[in-house]
Amino acid sequence: MPDEVYLDYQSAKPVDPRVIEAMLPYFGERFGNAASLHAVGDRATATLDASRARLAAFIGADDPDEVVFTSGATESNNLALIGYANRNRRSGGHVVISEVDHISILNIGKYLEKADFRVGKVPPDQFGRISPAKLRSRITDDTILVSVGWASNEIGTIQPIAEIAEMLKGTGVALHVDAVAAEGQLSIDMRAVPIDLLTLSSNDIYGPPGLGALYIRKGVKLSPIAVGGGQERGLRSGTEPLPLIVGMSEAADIAAAEMRTEVPRITALRDRLIEAVLSTIPDSHLNGHPSERLPNNAHFRFEGIEGESLLLSMRDEGIAVSTGSACSSKTLEPSHTLISCGLLHEEAHGSLEFTFGRFSKDSDIDRVMAVLPGIVLRLRRMSPLYKTD
Ligand code: PMP
Repeated sequence: MPDEVYLDYQSAKPVDPRVIEAMLPYFGERFGNAASLHAVGDRATATLDASRARLAAFIGADDPDEVVFTSGATESNNLALIGYANRNRRSGGHVVISEVDHISILNIGKYLEKADFRVGKVPPDQFGRISPAKLRSRITDDTILVSVGWASNEIGTIQPIAEIAEMLKGTGVALHVDAVAAEGQLSIDMRAVPIDLLTLSSNDIYGPPGLGALYIRKGVKLSPIAVGGGQERGLRSGTEPLPLIVGMSEAADIAAAEMRTEVPRITALRDRLIEAVLSTIPDSHLNGHPSERLPNNAHFRFEGIEGESLLLSMRDEGIAVSTGSACSSKTLEPSHTLISCGLLHEEAHGSLEFTFGRFSKDSDIDRVMAVLPGIVLRLRRMSPLYKTD
């Protein structure tokens, strides 16, 4: 559809054309394997080192060696939690995660339980925030690792990561943060915040899909979760995909350079949509935190109707939105995040997520507001769940 409106940037982002441009030579004339001992290999090594340094600069890491490239955020999360738990098992068998983390973290938690670790889950408040005090109360002498997402990929709530990191500093409990939803939108500085392990994804900063990274603070020890040729300091074997790595570092440079102008622009779009929806559509509510929320996220609940029906009606109008986490939106289960925030099943089902991005514009909101109020009205007329008086 030529004039499709795409407001689902949390699910997938187009690769920035400048990133594609930067990657292209590395598929062809600048190909190479960094492990080779000939000149082509040396050239690949130089490119890999330079790219790693650019990504390290993006997150304020002291040493480029603290960055390990992976196949994506899911793998980074696996390496962080399983790799850390296995390597540090002698120090303890208890891991703490948050109830509002990405499904990959929740499922890694289940995996760790099967591997005889104990996994505690911290519930959020009604806005999806994890309280540092509540988190602290879950930590025991046996706890070795805490994992909290920097921000929710669903409802956009930002966690008090700096406070959590300061609280854990010096306790011997390591902190992993999944920064995928936050990267490119919030300032991430490993010099300022004592995080031990940080998950990044390339596509979430408009880089190529199929690549991620894990920041591992110097001195933090992990076991690899896959074995092979020993690349990436033995932590992530497999020939490094040079074109993707060049792309991610280019994407990081662009994100860093443009955040100062892009974040206020996206925030204004988000606020315009929130204002328009809440003031125009009766019995609509904002999910997530009113102020501590990602610049690009607007997540609503509409009483008496189903998010799926809304999504399909929007789709008919050429507007792409989401009912929640893309990773699980093809299941009929309500979002675990919304349920954890205290919503009833039918309330969670009545929710719709809009996420803005680099190519979003004001006219996208005009298009949404031209059709959404009418769609909600029509679906409510057919809904036995919606009471008019
Ligand atoms: N963490 C968060 C916060 C996410 O939003 C996602 C999905 N984009 C992931 C991890 C997993 O990413 P991927 O599916 O690319 O491995």
